[in-house]
Amino acid sequence: MFSQHIDTAPVLEAFAKGGECPLCALRDQTEAEYLEQFLGGSVMVPAARVLVNEKGFCARHFAQLYESGNHLGLALMTHTHLKEKIAGLEKRWAEPRKERLLAPRRPRQPETGMQSCALCERLNATMDRYASTTVWLWKNDDGFRERFDGSLGLCVEHTEAVLAASPGNAMREAVIKLELENLRRVEKELEWFTLKFDYRNQDKPWGNAKDALPRAILKLAGINPRDKGE
Ligand SMILES: [Zn+2]
Ligand SMILES: [Zn+2]
Repeated sequence: MFSQHIDTAPVLEAFAKGGECPLCALRDQTEAEYLEQFLGGSVMVPAARVLVNEKGFCARHFAQLYESGNHLGLALMTHTHLKEKIAGLEKRWAEPRKERLLAPRRPRQPETGMQSCALCERLNATMDRYASTTVWLWKNDDGFRERFDGSLGLCVEHTEAVLAASPGNAMREAVIKLELENLRRVEKELEWFTLKFDYRNQDKPWGNAKDALPRAILKLAGINPRDKGE
């Protein structure tokens, strides 16, 4: 159980705003805060420096940090990380070939995502906490439960996160029901979006289908392609 000092405000705020996945919106907001913190060199506590030296950043966050324009701050962090990386590679590549073959094979990293990243690591830890907060609020705050059960659901990934954080069956059932209803809703809206391209449907009303594609992508991948670059 959580103690009294749990910070429920960000979760309450995100769900008050609504949308196809309030936790995605909260993640985007938190990510923007962390990007700023990582570049504000003076607030980088030693623990964060150690983490950056060891992990570096994934492609997405390197690109975002680069775009933010503080090239000196990023260069300082990247330089110490690069030195540590070279030392690690030197050691790894020096291993005799035979030993390397005997060592457990590490799965090949995908071309994007899953790269070691100091920012992803912090963000994931925070989002796990927010998923637990969502569960705690659902169980302890009647108003929140009502809002959650009447919401548009979450994206698939955050549904899984909330399911992983809810040990009891009551919320599990509610989340699954809510999510399947809303995935079917978006599926129907997306279908109508495609049917609107048929000339016979040209004059029929769009209903809610006009932005069904970005909303379907958000449900599936946690990103609204229309927000990209903003
Ligand atoms: Zn989400
Ligand atoms: Zn990252």
